Amino acid sequence: MKNILVCGAGGFIGGHLVKRLKNEGFWVRGVDLKFPEYDETVADDFMIGDLRDQGFCRAAFDTRFDEVYQLAADMGGAGFIFTGENDADIMHNSATINLNVLDACHKRNIRRVFYSSSACAYPAYNQQDPANPKCSEGSAYPAAPDSEYGWEKLFSERLYLAYRRNHGLKTHVARYHNIFGPHGAWTGGREKAPAAICRKVALARSGDTIDIWGDGQQTRSFLYVDECLEGTIRLLRSDFTGPVNIGSEEMVTINQLVDMIAEIAGKQIEKQHIDGPQGVRGRNSDNRLIREKLDWAPSSRLREGLEVTYAWIEREARRNAR
Ligand code: NAD
Repeated sequence: MKNILVCGAGGFIGGHLVKRLKNEGFWVRGVDLKFPEYDETVADDFMIGDLRDQGFCRAAFDTRFDEVYQLAADMGGAGFIFTGENDADIMHNSATINLNVLDACHKRNIRRVFYSSSACAYPAYNQQDPANPKCSEGSAYPAAPDSEYGWEKLFSERLYLAYRRNHGLKTHVARYHNIFGPHGAWTGGREKAPAAICRKVALARSGDTIDIWGDGQQTRSFLYVDECLEGTIRLLRSDFTGPVNIGSEEMVTINQLVDMIAEIAGKQIEKQHIDGPQGVRGRNSDNRLIREKLDWAPSSRLREGLEVTYAWIEREARRNAR
């Protein structure tokens, strides 16, 4: 039976990934600072510890795992990444994790390693027109990400590729684009736009007004977590290194996202546009490369994933209010 290690297994995507790998019949160890917040872990073994600590990291990599998925990062939505207040932590913490993980993989002679980079690595200058953002993989350079989070992702992408070149690890790098779904942060400051809007709509009554950061004309695409996992596993088990986008090509404005969620909730919701951190004006996944290399690309509709996510957040919000 294959042994698999998931770093960041207490987080949103890592928690879903552990479930998926267990369903496929593998032995899975999860590693994180914390257990998953909204669900019991189904990992065979779960080590609580800090991957910034080299000693702990080596202990977690105590065997020659067949596959390693590195998802651990100091991370959050726009309210965490774009205020500037967390920049030093974001860069230091995530870079240290990646340095330690790769060193441990190399020393254990672990071959297959997946790394989750981000669409935040793309240059801000290609994402100023909300109708025509450019996010093809080759456009990442000349580099100019709009956040330190994006700069750390670029650095770490290069680190994974350097270990492949110099030490023969089969590293695979994906750039995720706004992954959403149930069991993710939905309150507390680290939540992303879909979860934050689901929460605001769930807590509102029909006819109420909710706050939206910016004018709502900024565009994004959002990928449901199950498809993110499918792309992640396919990439790791392929011969393709990446970096490659794992995202949806169904681009919407934030105003359209709000309207879609309000419709799912069956509520009349008014929007009040207020100042707030927003990131780039436009972003969409470009799936030409993933289609070409993996003969696969995400295909589910945004609305389907939002229905599941809204139902979960509404339940959580109701439970919290009690
Ligand atoms: P998440 O915050 O839910 O999960 C990250 C996990 O890493 C958390 O559980 C956290 O406790 C853990 N972690 C942080 N520091 C650690 C440390 N020092 N030692 C051990 N564990 C530590 O985030 P997520 O949404 O599941 O994202 C997973 C990965 O995908 C991250 O690398 C993120 O940058 C990347 N990504 C996510 C998205 C998205 O939309 N969710 C988009 C682009 C990239």
